[in-house]
Amino acid sequence: MIIRRQKSQIEKWLLKMPLMISCRDFENFIIQYLEDELPWNKRFIINTHLKVCKECRDYLDAYRLSMAATKGALAQEELPEVPEDLVKAILAATQNGKND
Ligand SMILES: [Zn+2]
Repeated sequence: MIIRRQKSQIEKWLLKMPLMISCRDFENFIIQYLEDELPWNKRFIINTHLKVCKECRDYLDAYRLSMAATKGALAQEELPEVPEDLVKAILAATQNGKND
């Protein structure tokens, strides 16, 4: 999990402007934003928020990194690097365990 900070001064300032979203709204849209699933007008609003809000930029970077790390870990799991002997040993051990 990524730990979030307290409400920032800039957020209070932003909420006074029209078409502006809060940092919490940004968090709600971050996955769709990263997956490119938002309509242009929402993207525009979020991009505007990112331009003025460093905290959400940092949060987005951290989120991207954690997503990349997750995808990297999954990609590594797909590599068939387990030696056949080890697989046989594990299978043998599992079967031995099942036999009473
Ligand atoms: Zn923000």
